[in-house]
Amino acid sequence: MINRRLFLNYLGISALGLSASACNDRPPESRYNANDIERLARQRSAEAQAAGKGRFGEHRYSGYRGLSRLPWFELDSSGKLVCVDENVPMSIDMHAHLGMSVLFKPELDLQAKTPRVRHLLDCDNTLAACQLDLDIYVNGNFSEQNLDDLESTIIAQGLWGSEITQTHTIANLIEEMNAMRVERAVILPIKLGLPFGDDQTEHWRAEIAQSGESERLDAGFSVHPLDDNCIEQMQHHAKSGLKIMKLHPTVQKFYPDDPSLMKVYEEAQSLGITVFFHGGRAGIEPESSHRYAMPRHYRKALLDFPKVNFILGHGGARDVDAMLALMLAHNNAWLGTHGQGVTKLDEIIEKTKGQRILFGTDWPFYHLGSSLAKTLIVTESPFRRDHRRALLRGNALELLDSL
Ligand SMILES: [Zn+2]
Repeated sequence: MINRRLFLNYLGISALGLSASACNDRPPESRYNANDIERLARQRSAEAQAAGKGRFGEHRYSGYRGLSRLPWFELDSSGKLVCVDENVPMSIDMHAHLGMSVLFKPELDLQAKTPRVRHLLDCDNTLAACQLDLDIYVNGNFSEQNLDDLESTIIAQGLWGSEITQTHTIANLIEEMNAMRVERAVILPIKLGLPFGDDQTEHWRAEIAQSGESERLDAGFSVHPLDDNCIEQMQHHAKSGLKIMKLHPTVQKFYPDDPSLMKVYEEAQSLGITVFFHGGRAGIEPESSHRYAMPRHYRKALLDFPKVNFILGHGGARDVDAMLALMLAHNNAWLGTHGQGVTKLDEIIEKTKGQRILFGTDWPFYHLGSSLAKTLIVTESPFRRDHRRALLRGNALELLDSL
């Protein structure tokens, strides 16, 4: 039988309310408790209140095209956003994906070029353009309608296919990278734990090779850490040359410090693999999976496996404060900055002094320009130029070159 709930939740989105039925398996207090719930609620209200009132002021734009108001961007003759400032360092995107076709593997041509990318937050849709606020956690820009559409798209990726997903192709990504001065992107699949059609790692890797863009697109891999043969899968991928492994606690439903994970980290350590964790609560996943992503659950991995580089994605999302503290306390922890608003990104740069922080975009959820714009805004001061270079490029190269 198809594990319907797992499938529907694979991007952390509850579909049809099915996930709500998981309330009978209440987690132990240490895993998830009233304080945790309270902290998320406080983060949301504090963010809503503070948006636009930080030292960078208001940053609200009408769609991704609206970013052309900023000094680094323009619209070209076809109306596409282009980064025109040649002083902006060519960046390395440590967090990107491609269109998914899983389970029943609906038709999807990843080599195709289409007139327009329909990002999962389709902010340039002329029929329903959205306001893009760069001073909040990025998924706060999804309206209820956008979230419903996202859910339908995700379900379609495993069944009948989606017109939106058909624009999430290699050719479209490369074109957006060219427009946004992104030199390279690390492409991260997620092993979903489906009974069949769960081969994103192999599929994306083969498509990248076929496209001839292997110089610019670095394929990552994923295993399901609760799979019986996940160690063999890791060995297989490592032997074939892959070096970055994505693990997703809320989609794959595991605690990063679960005893069964220790052999996974041990193997990563001996194979020299970097672990890319989805980090923290995004806030739009089913509540029943929030428990897995609490920053304290990541500590044991960082502490017990000091030779493994761990990337904590999204800066811990809405748990950014705790995740940042954790990252600062562990030299083998790197913080992905994707998603954080300008005021928070500024704080991250201040506290890390620009070290071990990584640029990422989560394409095709969002236009590459939304992450780039935030980085450029907070590093505009001449005193921040080294930080700009480190965040957009230098730190990623340091990490990738060490692999
Ligand atoms: Zn992602």
